[in-house]
Amino acid sequence: MFFVSDEKMLDHCIRWDSYHIESPDRMTVILDRLKSCDLLDNANILPSRSASVEEIEIVHTRDYIDQIKTICTKSIDEIEDYCKTVEDVYMNENTYDLALLSAGCSIDATLSAFKEKSSSFAVVRPPGHHAFPSVPCGFCWFNNVAIAAKHARSSGAQRILIVDWDVHAGQGTQECIQGDNGIKLISIHRFEHGNFWPNLEQSSVDHKFPNTINVPLNSIGEDDSSFISIFHLVVLPTLIDYQPDLIIVSCGFDAAIGDPEGEMKVSPHGYGRMTRLLMNTGIPISLILEGGYFLPSISRDAEFVVRALQGETFPILPTTPFSSTLNETLRRVISSSSPSTLQSIKYLLEKSGKTREPNTTSPEYKGSRIVPDQYPTREIYQEKTPEEHARFVIELEDVMKRYEEEGTKGSKIKLTISEESQFSIKETVEGEIEIFTSSSLHPLVHSTIISYLNPETSFSPSFFTSPSTQQLDIFFEVILSLSSHSSFSHIPLIRILTQ
Ligand SMILES: [Zn+2]
Repeated sequence: MFFVSDEKMLDHCIRWDSYHIESPDRMTVILDRLKSCDLLDNANILPSRSASVEEIEIVHTRDYIDQIKTICTKSIDEIEDYCKTVEDVYMNENTYDLALLSAGCSIDATLSAFKEKSSSFAVVRPPGHHAFPSVPCGFCWFNNVAIAAKHARSSGAQRILIVDWDVHAGQGTQECIQGDNGIKLISIHRFEHGNFWPNLEQSSVDHKFPNTINVPLNSIGEDDSSFISIFHLVVLPTLIDYQPDLIIVSCGFDAAIGDPEGEMKVSPHGYGRMTRLLMNTGIPISLILEGGYFLPSISRDAEFVVRALQGETFPILPTTPFSSTLNETLRRVISSSSPSTLQSIKYLLEKSGKTREPNTTSPEYKGSRIVPDQYPTREIYQEKTPEEHARFVIELEDVMKRYEEEGTKGSKIKLTISEESQFSIKETVEGEIEIFTSSSLHPLVHSTIISYLNPETSFSPSFFTSPSTQQLDIFFEVILSLSSHSSFSHIPLIRILTQ
C-alpha cells in the first residue's frame, strides 16, 4: 500500500471567517489517528509533489489555471470578492500552490497503485470532485480524481472506474471525464429529488452523460446496510461488466455518522468493508480524500480504510430491508442503465415483475437552482453545539461496539463450479454454505452472493462470460426459493427481487 500526504496542505484555510467545515483540522485528525495506530509503519510512503501546470491542463483550461494563480497574489479582500462570484469556495494566498500539491500527490499515488498493481491512499486537500474544467466549486479548485484518472489513461490504463462515495454528487468529475469512454463514474450521493446541493438535474439517474452512473439517495439516514447493498447491486456488477484495470475512489467521509452535510449513518466498519469489497477484485485501487466534516468519525473512517487496504478482516455487518426510497432508486438505476451495463441484474429484476413501482412514474427531479447575484462567503456553516457533538460521538461508539460484539467473521463457503448444475445453494448443519454454479454465472454469483456472505473472498473478474437466458432463469428460481430461508433472505439481490 502506498500512502501520501503533506502537512503543508494545512496552510489552505479561510482567513475572513472564524469557522468553516473544510478546515485543516480534518487532515490533522486523520494523520494523527493513522500515526497513533502505527498504521503507516508498513506503508510505502511516497514523497509529496506539486503537479506542473501542464499536468493540470489535462483537465483544466490554461486560462482558468492562470486566473487562480493570479487571484492568489491579491489581498484577502480582493480574494474574498472573487470568491463571491463562484459557488461555495474560499481561498488564501497558499491555495494555488496547495491545489497543485494536492493534485500532484493524487497523480503519484494513483500511478503508483496502477503501475505496481497495488493500492494507495492520498490524504490531500483542497479536495477536487466538484471542480469543473474552468470553474471552481464546492471547496474544490483542481479536480484531483479526474486529473489522476487522465494521467493513468496516458500511462496505459484502458478502463478506469471512479467510485465516488462522497455524499455530494461528483458533478465536477462527471463533466471533466465527459466523452472519455475509458473512464466511468459511479456517484452515490444525497439528492432528495434535486433539493440537496448542488441541486442539479444531471445528478439524477436519468441524464445525458453516458459514462456516469448516478445513485441518488432521496432520504437521509442511509447506513452501512444501504451502502453495502448499493455495492452488491450496482458497483460490483458494473465492475464485472466494465472490467477496469484501475479503480479510483473519490473518498469523502461525509456520509458518515454525525456529518452535518450528509446526515447519513455510515460507520468506520462500513467504509472499511466498501474498501475491502473493491480490493478483493484484485484490481489496483487508489483512494483520494474528498469531503468529510465530523472529525470523530473521519479519523476512524480513514483508519478503517487503511486497515482494509492492509488486509485486516472485519465483522460482517447486519443488514436491514431497504428504505422505500432506496428501493425505488435501485430499481431505477438498474432499469435505466445502458444496454451493456448491469444486464444480468436487469434481466432478473424484469423477471421479478417489479421493474418500476407505480410511484416511480413521478418525476425524479423536483429541484431548482437559485443562482444569487453574489454567493455568500461568511457564516455559511455552523459549528455543532457541544451537546450535539457529544450525542454523535456516543452514536459512533455504540455502533462500533455493537459490530465488534455482534458481527460475525463471515460464512465458510464451499464453492463448486460445474457446468452440470447451473446454480444451487444450501447451508449445511455446521453452518457451512455450499454453492454450486456454472462458470458463466460465477462472476454474477460472486458479486451478488459469495462476496456478500463472505466479504473476505477474493475473485478475479477476468474470465467473465455473459450468462445465458436459460441460466439466469434457473438462477432466478433458486434465489426466489431461498428468500424464505433466514440465512439468505438478507442478501441484497434476494431483497430487491422480493421486497
Ligand atoms: Zn462532500
